[in-house]
Amino acid sequence: MKGFSFPIFKTKQEEGEKFQLEDPVQRRKYFDCKAGVEIEKLRVFLEQGNTFVGFLLGPKNSGKGTYTKLFMEAVGAERVAHISVGDIVRSIDADARNPTKKAALVAFLGRRYRGFIAFDKIIEVLAGRDTTTLVPTEVILALVEREIERLGRKAVFVDGFPRNLDQVSYSLYFRTLIGYRDDPDFFVFINVPEIIIDERMRSRVVCGSCQSPRNLKLLRTKEIGYDEGKKEFYLLCDNPSCEGFGKNRMVAKEGDELGIEAIRERIEVDKKVMEVLMDLQGVPKIFLRNAVPVEVASEYIDDYEITPAYRYEWDGELNKVRVIEESWVVEDDDGLPSYSLLPAAVAVSLIKQTAQVLGL
Ligand SMILES: [Zn+2]
Repeated sequence: MKGFSFPIFKTKQEEGEKFQLEDPVQRRKYFDCKAGVEIEKLRVFLEQGNTFVGFLLGPKNSGKGTYTKLFMEAVGAERVAHISVGDIVRSIDADARNPTKKAALVAFLGRRYRGFIAFDKIIEVLAGRDTTTLVPTEVILALVEREIERLGRKAVFVDGFPRNLDQVSYSLYFRTLIGYRDDPDFFVFINVPEIIIDERMRSRVVCGSCQSPRNLKLLRTKEIGYDEGKKEFYLLCDNPSCEGFGKNRMVAKEGDELGIEAIRERIEVDKKVMEVLMDLQGVPKIFLRNAVPVEVASEYIDDYEITPAYRYEWDGELNKVRVIEESWVVEDDDGLPSYSLLPAAVAVSLIKQTAQVLGL
């Protein structure tokens, strides 16, 4: 994002082990090695019944969900939750078609909703039958509150709120509105160069059975296939609990070939919201940076924290696919050649800074 210089968070070790960050067992060791002290402090904080509200702010597809899931993996999923406002609103669409669930929803909104738009109208909007009216913020707040009640008392990362400038001022009082009166809250700003978002979208693929997301270029599976007819390489699902394990050809979603331009409008709104909140005083801020300029990388990060890129060649003689791993250098939004950090490295920065803003 132009105009913002986020500090680079140092995760480099003077000397140490190397870790395979795609492997859950190694990743556990990596987290303990690089942020063990902070993880322990956060665990104690949460075990004592404390919570927090962290607002994730970053452009669409900047990895908000991934970073939170890794935070939960490191600190403990039983006391931390990720709330996606978009998912909540979408799930209401299904609820509204089920008579029992719809009745429960209507009863809940009847108790909690205060706003200017008539009640029947809201149900229409939520059910997706009226696509011209936006879901009012008052309704979103009520729905988030319902989700928080359902989750029980946990620390939460909120993804998708504030979604636009009209919701910004609500976010300042959000913790009061959802009943977390004295809990600390903070903003998590995520900076990812556009070119990285673009590549993530263009090369992403999913398994048709288990929906596991992967990336042909940036996050491969173990087994790669080659289609001789189409002269195309493809990933084979490697989720052990999937019925298509080792055989399902992972496929791209329609529209992804357009990359970031397909979501340009959303990206610009997300940036604007970040820009406004960046100037806000009185709420602690966490800065996550996905890209590190090549020229200073060796000072700040370890080699194995860098996202590699893969390409493939077909070896006709051996009758198999050759995988070539290369370092991936992209220009960040200021034009500086940069590396992209693997998600676990960004999560370490999130863990350390969260402990810091909570004063642990
Ligand atoms: Zn699968």
